[in-house]
Amino acid sequence: MPAGRRSALWLLMFALLIASSLTSVNALVSYRGGGFMTQGDYEVDKEVVFSYDGSDLVAKLYKHGELVCTARYTRRAYGVTTDSLAIFNLNSFICDDAHSTWLMSYLYWDVKWGSKVAFALDTDTVAKGYQILSALERFGSSNTTAVIVDYSKAPPAYSIYPFDDFFWEPILIYRPENFTVEIVNGIKLFYDDGVRNETLQYVKEALGIVNELKEAYGPTIFEPYLFIFVSMNIPDIYGHEIGGHSMGSTKFMRDGFGNTTAVIAIHETAHSWFTDPYVKGSPYELKEGGAEFTGWYFSRKYFPQQFAKYMEGGWVCHNLGDPYFSGATKIIAQNYYIEKLSQVAGKNLTIFNIFRDYFGNATFYKVFTDADMKTFILEAVPHYLAADLGVDEGVLKESAGEIEEILSSIPQHPREVC
Ligand SMILES: [Zn+2]
Repeated sequence: MPAGRRSALWLLMFALLIASSLTSVNALVSYRGGGFMTQGDYEVDKEVVFSYDGSDLVAKLYKHGELVCTARYTRRAYGVTTDSLAIFNLNSFICDDAHSTWLMSYLYWDVKWGSKVAFALDTDTVAKGYQILSALERFGSSNTTAVIVDYSKAPPAYSIYPFDDFFWEPILIYRPENFTVEIVNGIKLFYDDGVRNETLQYVKEALGIVNELKEAYGPTIFEPYLFIFVSMNIPDIYGHEIGGHSMGSTKFMRDGFGNTTAVIAIHETAHSWFTDPYVKGSPYELKEGGAEFTGWYFSRKYFPQQFAKYMEGGWVCHNLGDPYFSGATKIIAQNYYIEKLSQVAGKNLTIFNIFRDYFGNATFYKVFTDADMKTFILEAVPHYLAADLGVDEGVLKESAGEIEEILSSIPQHPREVC
């Protein structure tokens, strides 16, 4: 078949695929907020109905149609409210009932694996032109006024409780005329009309390597789903001057990183794996060091100029003793050790094989409660290598102990070095 015809055929198939997926999504979501409803596949057990007017944010919780509580927004966890965009966490609402109960308490105990929960906008908020968006829709479906989460679709093997996701993922209420939602490599990229073209391009290119991250680290309940990139006109959700954040499957960055944007975007995306509940290391060496290592490794490979700028920059220079820097350095040293050892055994192993094993088996929360960098080096690495290289685990543990000793004896660089 001539190349022209073939590409035309692909285009047609692609268009049909898009059309059929849109149809099925629309068919599933026939939900209206404001009171308990039965709508096709979505007979919801609970509804959280939001009203927003550009500054005041209220959540009403309904259980089987009965109003359970009206809750005030407290910005307990993180969040931002502007006229065009509100980003908030469900953990921030407190019920105006006799006991001032946290809204989350109701969700904690009532949400089961089979539960269906709707997060919806009330009719006033819809009339004002707002829409809703959350990465929670990956466990259900959504339209512009409701996100419906079906917990039978969440993979229990990678989560401990259904409400793990309630705890982490933000919900967005926004005015569509100020924002664009674009799919980049399967990820929803959400940005406002004030972001710069050049940096937006860096974010898109950084999201282009997400399949390589999935290949490297394996499955996670927090697979990257929503990436929020906003101009400096919108405040940081934690009130930082400059910062990137990861909340479950959602990442947040402001357009303030210039020519190191891709490095930070990869770091935040890597937190889909290096995150609670998989990693609860102290002092966050594996969590931050792992994300930092990933930012270094892949930006060095695909964005060498940005990687160089990042390394030259004062940020790393002034943080030589912190868990980001020391954690990433330890993983690089481990990777070197693993590569050398696997070469001797005629294999082709890297630190990524071990991480994939480590996170891929994170079935039970408690397993990794104490899994900091030290136990990762002393226990996880020798255990994996012993199985894969056929070398005695005791010998590997001994050499891992020596490496750990060397790594932990590296003196912290004085700040004057920079
Ligand atoms: Zn981080």
